[in-house]
Amino acid sequence: MYANIIIDISHEKVDKPFQYKIPEALDSEIQVGVQVRIPFGKGNHERKGYVVGVTEEADFDPARIKEITGVVTGSVTAESKLIGLAWWMKGRYGSTMNQALKTVLPVKQKVRPKENRCLVCQLHGPDLKNAILEAGKKGYKARERLLKAFEDTPVIPYSVAAGQMNLTMASIKPLIEKQMITLESETVYRNPKIYGSLQKPAVKLNSRQAAIVSDFALRYEQGIRETSLLYGVTGSGKTEVYLEMIDLVLKQGKQVIVLIPEIALTYQTVLRFYRRFGSLVSIINSRMSAGERYDQFERAKRAEVRIMIGPRSALFTPFPSLGLLIIDEEHESAYKSELSPRYHARETAQKLAEMNHATLVLGSATPSLEAYTRALKGEYRLYRLTERAKKDSHMAQVQVVDLREELKNGNRSIFSEALQNAMKERLDKGQQIMLFLNRRGYSSFVSCRSCGEAVRCPHCDVTLTLHHKNRMKCHYCGYEIPLPDRCPACGSPYIAGFGTGTQKIETMTKNMFPQARVLRMDLDTTSKKGGHEEILSAFGEKEADILVGTQMIVKGHDFPNVTLVGVLAADLSLYSSDFRCGERTFQLLTQAAGRAGRGETAGQVIIQTYSPDHYSITCAAGQDYESFYYKEMAYRQTLKYPPVSQLLAVLMSGKDEAILNQAAQQLHRQVLSSVWKGDVEVIGPAEASVYKVNDIYRKILYLKQENYGILINIKDKLEIFSRGAPWFSHVIIQYDFA
Ligand code: ADP
Ligand code: ZN
Ligand code: ZN
Repeated sequence: MYANIIIDISHEKVDKPFQYKIPEALDSEIQVGVQVRIPFGKGNHERKGYVVGVTEEADFDPARIKEITGVVTGSVTAESKLIGLAWWMKGRYGSTMNQALKTVLPVKQKVRPKENRCLVCQLHGPDLKNAILEAGKKGYKARERLLKAFEDTPVIPYSVAAGQMNLTMASIKPLIEKQMITLESETVYRNPKIYGSLQKPAVKLNSRQAAIVSDFALRYEQGIRETSLLYGVTGSGKTEVYLEMIDLVLKQGKQVIVLIPEIALTYQTVLRFYRRFGSLVSIINSRMSAGERYDQFERAKRAEVRIMIGPRSALFTPFPSLGLLIIDEEHESAYKSELSPRYHARETAQKLAEMNHATLVLGSATPSLEAYTRALKGEYRLYRLTERAKKDSHMAQVQVVDLREELKNGNRSIFSEALQNAMKERLDKGQQIMLFLNRRGYSSFVSCRSCGEAVRCPHCDVTLTLHHKNRMKCHYCGYEIPLPDRCPACGSPYIAGFGTGTQKIETMTKNMFPQARVLRMDLDTTSKKGGHEEILSAFGEKEADILVGTQMIVKGHDFPNVTLVGVLAADLSLYSSDFRCGERTFQLLTQAAGRAGRGETAGQVIIQTYSPDHYSITCAAGQDYESFYYKEMAYRQTLKYPPVSQLLAVLMSGKDEAILNQAAQQLHRQVLSSVWKGDVEVIGPAEASVYKVNDIYRKILYLKQENYGILINIKDKLEIFSRGAPWFSHVIIQYDFA
């Protein structure tokens, strides 16, 4: 038997595993993740390395393979498992080992050991209520927010108050001086007795939720580890179900990782976890410094914290005994990394769960086609919640407005008559409104304002992207036409690039409703630390009547006073040049619709569009996931897009256009020569949707094939080929599985 070993991490040549013989005496001890001692290099100096694979066959002359010296005892640590995971990621996603290791292992940094402190509320019942009222009357917004949070939990970590809640010491200090709250060392609150007193479920599960939890419990206790999909409509109580599942797994002495999209990681969400599990919970977010993150991971390693909540990167929390992984809003595109290795958190979590003998739970109101397909095939266990959890809460009423009709009737403003009337009515009643611009990315498409048709590629059935010089291109296959001056479908001259910004909408809204208070939330207004929370809490506290924003505003926020949600131009996300745009649009619209009427007043949603008949829009309006799923799958079937087929993008970039072209041609030829004819569909090479960025040109080659193994094989061959090519140092190649 032979082991493939990565020499200890600090070593330069980490990118390639070295093969060693496993001495018989060590046979039973060697497995992936074990740390071993090995002779290395010419002088056979002893080094440490990690086993990343075990095989029966030697890769070269067995006589020349050295033997493992020994096993480092007690070495199957969380870190060594993560190294195994990095090895898997490198192979699965096609990055270098170095990139994969940097992704899974936090940067070691000297951090000042920071004492974790907590804010503890000393007021109870009516005293607390009075303090909240008083802070409200005096207009101390921050103070009011903190005191309100104490209604839910008596202890709030200082890091959450300063981070997620965006409070400054200046606003907290007066409360401490008046002894309304105290600032204490957190270790006090890791006392199990106090933890016990926190641990009370906030609600009693309804029968549907309870049935899911008991099925989960039964299977978990039987030792079954699997992946399940919790498909529950917005507000159906998925989070409450997660809390119960977590409780069960913690009681078995194990730890839990919860992934939440960064955007939805608000203090309201975070507090629900704190209320239940106190300081066993820790959070990481992308604004943290590497040192802070490292610090959190160290605490996890010692199991001082047992639940890690965070975005994608929280997956790599080095828990000693991981028992459960939860991915909320599993369909979110943010779970896919945009840096090499371009891993998807869903798949990586599944691998991690497998390696740790843990269970994975995926949750969504609009499951990804990938996850739902697996659930239907029985690969995932499927749990459903079809109704809202709160008795008095109902799904909103959705109305689709045809913007083509508005144009015919002479209304060229961005507000349809129906939306204007509805806004007036809600404002008069003192209710709140959200205006949503489902804009994604910057590439723009061209559509007809008379018939609604977007200009598409005849070969790929995605929209063509508008480039400067008035050319339109398909970024999948390179098809190119000049910008038409009339609609190819109906001949109308009202054909134009689509693009309206949130800032413009904000101005128009203010012009139309001068008496209304308008807030805007987009990348610009949220870029500073805490900007996000500030806007949301201001809106939550009714400091504004209308919130205008991008998809940021539709993620998981609970505003009971919002009774109207307006989607200004559903087409903005419907016609991007991505084959997933129909799915994204359906998800965004369904999420947006889920924002209206969370309280007792019935909600209303108005979707404005030039394509009122498109199934992404009609199905979202009818809150009909099933119909959407089958229609979208039919499209993917016809064009062999994932999840029906696998799609591998080979991204090539370089400063010298001529060399890049040469590389693209050669790689293309290499693919054709390394596969059986017809085995793999090859598309391109074409220019990327954004061809030139910072003077670097980018081209893409797409490979389609049902069998993932064949694609991996080609990818491996391309890697070897390009390493030997003369242009290797001038062209960067990245692999991306869609
Ligand atoms: P989801 O995660 O599916 O969007 P949540 O767990 O956030 O749903 O629940 C939506 C709302 O319903 C929350 O305000 C929550 O407190 C409430 N809720 C959830 N389960 C119950 C229940 N069993 N009884 C009463 N209210 C509930
Ligand atoms: Zn037309
Ligand atoms: Zn095309």
